[in-house]
Amino acid sequence: MTNLLRRSTVRLPLLLLSTLLTVVGLATFWEFELEAYVMYWLGLPYDGDFEDGERLRFILTSSSFSLIAMIVPSIVLKRMVSNTQKIYHRLLRLQHQTEQLANFDPLSGLTNRRVFMDTLRKQLAQQEPAAVLLIDLDHFKAVNDEHGHSVGDETLIEAARRLQDIADQYEGTAVRLGGDEFCLLFLEQKGHSELSRIAHKTIAFLSGPMPELPMSARLGATIGVARSWVDSQDPSVLLQYADTAMYRGKNSGRSTFNFYDSEYEQERLAQQDLELALRRAVDREEIVPFYQPIVALPSQTVVGYEILARWIKADGTTGMPADFIPILERLGLIPDMTRSLVKQACQAASLWDDTLHLSLNVSAAMITDELFPDRLLDQLREERYPFDRFEVEITEEALVGNLEAAQRNLSKLHAYGIVVALDDFGIGYSGLYHLTRLSIDKIKIDRSFFEANNLEHLPMVEAILGMARSLKMKVTAEGIEEFHLPHLPGWLAQSGCHYAQGYLYGKPQAAGDVPTRDRVLLPSSDP
Ligand code: C2E
Ligand code: CA
Ligand code: CA
Repeated sequence: MTNLLRRSTVRLPLLLLSTLLTVVGLATFWEFELEAYVMYWLGLPYDGDFEDGERLRFILTSSSFSLIAMIVPSIVLKRMVSNTQKIYHRLLRLQHQTEQLANFDPLSGLTNRRVFMDTLRKQLAQQEPAAVLLIDLDHFKAVNDEHGHSVGDETLIEAARRLQDIADQYEGTAVRLGGDEFCLLFLEQKGHSELSRIAHKTIAFLSGPMPELPMSARLGATIGVARSWVDSQDPSVLLQYADTAMYRGKNSGRSTFNFYDSEYEQERLAQQDLELALRRAVDREEIVPFYQPIVALPSQTVVGYEILARWIKADGTTGMPADFIPILERLGLIPDMTRSLVKQACQAASLWDDTLHLSLNVSAAMITDELFPDRLLDQLREERYPFDRFEVEITEEALVGNLEAAQRNLSKLHAYGIVVALDDFGIGYSGLYHLTRLSIDKIKIDRSFFEANNLEHLPMVEAILGMARSLKMKVTAEGIEEFHLPHLPGWLAQSGCHYAQGYLYGKPQAAGDVPTRDRVLLPSSDP
């Protein structure tokens, strides 16, 4: 079309000239040759004695009039052609702009999401390889918040420029997916190490100083990589996998890259399911107290029970503390669980002999929480459970984090008559420091001291008992089992140990299996 228009404007004078020459030629031919014949043929009178001068004047006149008659249409025609040319160019510009808008991101000039998805879809439909590096800028929100949106935009443009550089180097396409999310697309099967190199370089490039930002403000990038030939042939799934891999990096400190890993993902999803199930379990009080008897020595009569958490699952199986306590700790749900256990235990204990005590395991986070003592005391009041029949067990590990807060809280509980026991004594820190500085009434010697065929620990047990005697503390020996018979209980009693706990006296049991005031049951065992 442009050529056609250009050709028309160039040819216009030529057309004029040739028309003029034709008119001159025809007029000459007419005057000197044709006129006489035509007149004769038409049978009209004709005077052939014209002078050449007259004939030439006629030629000149007719040619001049023809020329004048042609000039006006030519000017009009030229104008029309030039207008058409202008309109056509404007159309071309508009078409280009429309294409730009449809295919490229207006801010960064990179390929947009739609074209990226189309390309990916076509590539995968033809069973051709594609690798997606999904890039999310780190700290971009802070840039926008602290330096304003125009600096934010400039930063995005600069980041896009750097990504385009990398795309050019490795024959890929740089894409802006939206916001501060970008992507590098490679339509060939690149090796793991090459993709790692590209990801590494991309992070380094994007983490470098940005001219628009003060030196202190650095961007970074977290990248997730998914490969069609390893992960998925479905474009949306592939993108979602890259996203999942990217989020793995976001959760583990940022400015890293990860390849999508289906095994890791399955584990993560299973973990997510477990967390959800545990949240529900706490809400629905499916975590229940089991009770393990503690006996006095030498009588070996039950004086109380330790509350040990059990998760009674919908499928009838029982979850053990080692499997769910650490998760609940991470989810911050230990206080909720403990509250529920205390409630259930106090209600169960209201049916028991009213000399028995209850012993509660208290986690590190709780023992250092300023509000913990009052909450516990309030709850015991609510349940009408006497403070002097309640014990808390804490481990030394729980104390080291925030000794002062633990000290205050334990003193408060101690002041209200609640017994404070130091659990698992003898392993871990076992500092005398803790024993003397904190309001500890009782030590529970860890069961590892009484392991089978390990009698060399007994002198150590003797030493602990001696120390406890001088500090006027009571002692419980944990993990006393059948195989310790016939000697250990007697030896412990003789050595000054006040209490014992272990499978010999009973495994942790459900509330229904604990003897009540009216009913004496034979203890049944832990599942
Ligand atoms: P722990 O406080 O030292 O509890 C004693 C653990 O030793 C219990 O395991 C109990 O079943 C086991 N045990 C008792 N006697 C014997 C024995 O003779 N032989 C052997 N081999 N084991 C014996 P469990 O119930 O699995 O609890 C494990 C740990 O989970 C507890 O250790 C405690 O640290 C924690 N835990 C349990 N319930 C709670 C809770 O409600 N809150 C908190 N914060 N921690 C809890
Ligand atoms: Ca304990
Ligand atoms: Ca223990």
